[in-house]
Amino acid sequence: MQAPIPFMSFDHMHGPIREELIKKFTDVLDSGRFILGPEVSAFEAAFAKYCGCRFGIGVSSGLAALEVSLQALDIGPGDEVIVPANTYIATIMAVMSTGAKPVLAEPYKDTYNLDPSRVAEAITSQTKAIIPVHLYGQVCDMGAIMHLAHDTKLLVIEDNAQSQGATFNGQPTGSFGDFSATSFYPGKNLGALGDAGAVTTNQPALAEKAALIRNYGSPKKYYNSILGKNARLDELQAALLGIKLPYLDGWNKIRQGIAKQYDHLLKDVGDLVLPAVHPQATHVYHQYVVRTAHRQALIDHCTSKDIGTLIHYPVPPHLQDACKSLGYRKGDFPITEEIAETCLSLPVYPGLQEDEVAYIAKMIRAFFEEMP
Ligand SMILES: *Cc1c(COP(=O)(O)O)cnc(C)c1O
Repeated sequence: MQAPIPFMSFDHMHGPIREELIKKFTDVLDSGRFILGPEVSAFEAAFAKYCGCRFGIGVSSGLAALEVSLQALDIGPGDEVIVPANTYIATIMAVMSTGAKPVLAEPYKDTYNLDPSRVAEAITSQTKAIIPVHLYGQVCDMGAIMHLAHDTKLLVIEDNAQSQGATFNGQPTGSFGDFSATSFYPGKNLGALGDAGAVTTNQPALAEKAALIRNYGSPKKYYNSILGKNARLDELQAALLGIKLPYLDGWNKIRQGIAKQYDHLLKDVGDLVLPAVHPQATHVYHQYVVRTAHRQALIDHCTSKDIGTLIHYPVPPHLQDACKSLGYRKGDFPITEEIAETCLSLPVYPGLQEDEVAYIAKMIRAFFEEMP
């Protein structure tokens, strides 16, 4: 009898470091220092180094990281920012919150990542920046995107929320753009035990400005030089993230091993489309996303076998009520809409065992074989 397989579990990641996490918690508790102290500085330096970047600035979430980046680059009303049509809503809401206009562009259907030729088509005289999102853990075609940005003098903000540790041509995510924004939402490849995020950059002036913006524009307590936010990362989350960071590469390798097993076991099964990886990119499988025209029936089948699945994401941003003001309609982004209607994420996380992956694959094969 197969035990239920949840869509996601933290047990394997947190179990072995439980004592370390608890000790860190008590250290921070006893330090009496909870905001912008040594733990935040130490984690910022460690994460920047991990990304091959000069500066890291801890912030309160992935959304805050995007907002701080946009504000530091003076993007606001009258500006356009090109973003992928298929992304988590945060990328688009961050642009909307600055008063700038998000201009959506279609992805490639096979890698789910931004198609640089569609970005080129979307550029107008108002365009200021591009936000490539490394969706599901695979890096965008950063060769083509950086080339395009250079030729057209556009700024680049990477959305690195799902892809910490991935590379393009050997270069780590977080180090390509003027800014990179990441999230340490618990379920991300590197997750805090609450909300957290960071920006990384190689430019000293931008790093300084981002650090000001995240803390009320305050270079010195009770002195405020520019309009800012409260978007700080706190000491406790920074300290816990610092314990988890050294394990990230190992956890990503486990995710890649699971993906390889799925790739092998689910090849040529029904109409199932497996994720494609760009030859110069690595994929750290924040999600393992397949597509099928029989999605709801497959979900029901998996549920009946106690296998957890999720859809990332069922409604694309341009069809969300929150984005009505952008003026898009159904049919405007056919590739994005097809992905939203057919995509399904299978379990992929450290701790998912080889026999569990084999069981999931076997149940999925059986579903397609038994289909009338
Ligand atoms: C999770 C996520 C965000 C937002 O991160 P939060 O920490 O939840 O605010 C932004 N972009 C993408 C692509 C994400 O997956």
